[in-house]
Amino acid sequence: QAKATRRGSHQFYSPEMNDLIRQRRALEIDLRRALASQEFVLHFQPRLRAETLQVMAVEALVRWQHPIHGLVAPGDFIPLAEETGLIIPLGDWVLQEACRAAACYPDLVVSVNVSPVQFRNGDLVEQVRAALSSSGLPASRLELELTEGVLLENIESAIKSLRALKALGVSLAMDDFGTGYSSLGYLQHFPFDRLKIDKSFIAPLGDREDSRSIVQAILSLGRALGMSVTAEGVESAEQLRVLRDDNCDELQGFLLGRPMPAEQLSELLADPARSMAEASAV
Ligand code: C2E
Ligand code: MG
Ligand code: MG
Ligand code: MG
Repeated sequence: QAKATRRGSHQFYSPEMNDLIRQRRALEIDLRRALASQEFVLHFQPRLRAETLQVMAVEALVRWQHPIHGLVAPGDFIPLAEETGLIIPLGDWVLQEACRAAACYPDLVVSVNVSPVQFRNGDLVEQVRAALSSSGLPASRLELELTEGVLLENIESAIKSLRALKALGVSLAMDDFGTGYSSLGYLQHFPFDRLKIDKSFIAPLGDREDSRSIVQAILSLGRALGMSVTAEGVESAEQLRVLRDDNCDELQGFLLGRPMPAEQLSELLADPARSMAEASAV
């Protein structure tokens, strides 16, 4: 019997498995505690217009300021937050905090990453509405970044949710474009304003001619569908040159600005010439 064999093999009850479960349980408890004691912080990475290198917007990226482990990257806790549903209160906090930060400036646009779990299970429209109204941020200055993952399950209901978000006046970006499995044919049915080309397509730019062709194809696709296109992960002057030559609309990457704490952002924005000077120095 399959069941007996499975049980006999100790597959589910090995000491290693117990360790893993214990570790995850400990992390989950730690995450709950961190939420309650407000250990999360947002960093902000500038997004620049390619033509002028002006800062057009900032992307809010969450970090966990852990009392023992220091600054923890989202890749190390978002997956478990998604599995446990903690992403819903965490995502709500991120929205509130990002809107509050952006409202401090006269015309800054902020973009916020939204997990597929938040999109499907939470009351995202209500959370967004509440974050806008409590911060006073105009909806036109909030952008939500979604990945292809949100489009995979129920197309009809995904379109409905996206339309409800658009009806609030926020804009929508498709993040990590090119890494998912969504059919290109569907793209025209979704009300996205922006495509963000995943950094894995930007990294080989300048080294490999075929990588440039792929980026050019995404740029034409975006143009054909009336979307603005942003390149993510711009790290070198050569990548910058190629992307500007190919008329990519906006750029983001370590070359142009790393994710930074709010205080540093306010210094950057106080001197708008600064980021342009930095980038044109390359
Ligand atoms: P993402 O939304 O695609 O964000 C871009 C990631 O690329 C960020 O990593 C950023 O620091 C990094 N990056 C930016 N420029 C460069 C570059 O030039 N080179 C390289 N190698 N990397 C660059 P980070 O902050 O570690 O975030 C990783 C992912 O975690 C994000 O990818 C996003 O999917 C997720 N994430 C971050 N914050 C949130 C959040 O508040 N909510 C949710 N649901 N997910 C978040
Ligand atoms: Mg993003
Ligand atoms: Mg991305
Ligand atoms: Mg990503």
